[in-house]
Amino acid sequence: MGAVARKQLPLRPAGPDTVDALLAWYDEERRDLPWRAKPGKRTNAYRVWLSEIMLQQTTVKAVIPFYLKFLARWPNITALAEAPLDDVLAAWAGLGYYSRARNLHQCAQVVVRDYAGKFPRTAAELQKLPGIGPYTAAAIAAIAFQEPATPVDGNIERVVARLFAVRQPLPAAKSELKRLAATLTPENRPGDFAQAMMDLGAGICTPRRPSCLVCPVQSDCAAAAQGIEEQLPLRGVRAERPLRVGFAFVALREDGCVLLRRRPDAGLLGGMLEVPSTEWIEMLPPPKQALRAAPLRADWWLVPGTVVHTFTHFRLELVVYRALVPSDASLTFWAEPDRCRWVPRRELSSSALPSVMRKVLAHGLKEQ
Ligand code: SF4
Repeated sequence: MGAVARKQLPLRPAGPDTVDALLAWYDEERRDLPWRAKPGKRTNAYRVWLSEIMLQQTTVKAVIPFYLKFLARWPNITALAEAPLDDVLAAWAGLGYYSRARNLHQCAQVVVRDYAGKFPRTAAELQKLPGIGPYTAAAIAAIAFQEPATPVDGNIERVVARLFAVRQPLPAAKSELKRLAATLTPENRPGDFAQAMMDLGAGICTPRRPSCLVCPVQSDCAAAAQGIEEQLPLRGVRAERPLRVGFAFVALREDGCVLLRRRPDAGLLGGMLEVPSTEWIEMLPPPKQALRAAPLRADWWLVPGTVVHTFTHFRLELVVYRALVPSDASLTFWAEPDRCRWVPRRELSSSALPSVMRKVLAHGLKEQ
């Protein structure tokens, strides 16, 4: 029934009329998000930037409490630039992808130092700043500075693939989707257009069961006309995430402190704290060999079960050892004592620990 009705749609290719319809819909139905300026009010670039960095790989729902917390604590870019990195990382804990927090802090310092505290106004200039890639640069330039730039993320790729019925699978179709999205971006109100596309992708043109019947651009949508909207965008075969494994050592001192180590600045979870661990590799070495990598000599015992965590590019399984150690315990040199510190248990929740290490601590410190 649906297919017959759709074939009767007066289909026109997506173009300026589509944009007008979308903007009219946005004026009525836009989401009320804490970083969005109210209609007629000036957009604050700091808020747009902060929200866009937080929204990278994270949902709006998860971001809102973090955004509000950051804004209350660091209401402007100068305040954030002057904050100790550890405080920023600790406030970020739970949002994941910690290199974003490090880049956020570094970016704030660069903008204060090199741009007198004001963000550059074009996507090309914004992209030179730490942590700002093409999508984020286009989003900030369009929303905060009204540059007709076109941010294209997974949501907008989906909307565009459907509007134009693009049958080429992702990721090969990315550049074509970007090109098509740019053909729609208007000179007038590019920021509202970008946000309207975001809202459409989030609430109506959803990955499964898009709500075409209430969609403001249905009459211009090639996929809806052909009844193939649920099949798009097509995706190439995705490789399975490889598995990596390792050992983690939870050392609890008699005075209630836990041994933590700062990870190197570069690389995954750079600069965050961790429970001292072996390298994460493809095959577990024998336990005897693993124990030689323990950060101090102690009576280590194996905590039953494993800690499992999924990163973007691999799955990690950690085997956890635990030991109760005396207050004067000294670290082995391969524990890299300069990067280690003893942290009271009550301070663990406010420490710059990534989710995977919080799981390790919960597992390693649970009462047996
Ligand atoms: Fe998406 Fe359907 Fe709207 Fe097309 S008509 S843009 S498929 S919600």
